[in-house]
Amino acid sequence: MSLWFGVVTLFPEMIEQAANHGVFRRACEAGGVTLATFNPRDHARDRHGTVDDKPYGGGPGMVMMAEPLLAAIDEARSAAVAWGAQALVLLMSPQGAPFTQAQAQALAHRAGAYILVCGRYEGVDERVLALAVDAEISVGDYVLSGGELPALTVMDAVARLIEGNLGNPDSLLSESHLDGLLEYPQYTRPEIVRGLGVPSELLSGDHKRVADFRRQQAMVRTLDRRPGLLLEAGVLRDPQDRRLLAEVLEQRRNAAQDDAG
Ligand code: SAM
Repeated sequence: MSLWFGVVTLFPEMIEQAANHGVFRRACEAGGVTLATFNPRDHARDRHGTVDDKPYGGGPGMVMMAEPLLAAIDEARSAAVAWGAQALVLLMSPQGAPFTQAQAQALAHRAGAYILVCGRYEGVDERVLALAVDAEISVGDYVLSGGELPALTVMDAVARLIEGNLGNPDSLLSESHLDGLLEYPQYTRPEIVRGLGVPSELLSGDHKRVADFRRQQAMVRTLDRRPGLLLEAGVLRDPQDRRLLAEVLEQRRNAAQDDAG
């Protein structure tokens, strides 16, 4: 299973440098991921390499012109076909659907070619969306100055899900958001750090105790930090999960009473 990413960007070095590390780099070296960049400036229609212009109707800032972007997307599409797939074109945009782990999984499972279009300035001419974009993706409800960091975020989240790209594929089985819960807390040696120890359950050597503790921690952590996720995850419908959660909340209540007393 392999993926092809074509990133349309005015700052190809930003993508190439960031992609040259860790899991993503190893995935490229092993052939699981292919990365290419396409610069709209190479398709500018004047000798100054102009790719932006003032917005019709006035207003602040500049807008990315449609033609250089569309030509760069066309170039990327042809490269994807040469690689062996029709590409899906994804525009990075704060107006898009929020990117989630479920979406990363869907993109990874489809395994194929993706063109990630990075906006700059005040955004891109709306006609690019009408003519060439299949979907818009947002990495969160905030505005960045460009689509390069969102594109790297999406590529990283997807590439690590492709079989063979992670050093230890079991890591994927317990991660945050996999089953709608945040991951349990992790500890490593030494056993004491500046007076703080490791929960006794994790040192017990009892697999069931460890598994129950981790499940409880994942639930209670999700309840504390992202309660909405707990409801969506449906854990409250599972009798075993309900029992574990009730148990840990009871322990917590007792500890709070002890502290108060
Ligand atoms: N004026 C635009 C608006 O209000 O929707 C924001 C433009 S932003 C300064 C420039 C580019 O950064 C966008 O075209 C997009 O490609 C990218 N960008 C900014 N925030 C983003 C986000 N949260 N998710 C994905 N892309 C984002």
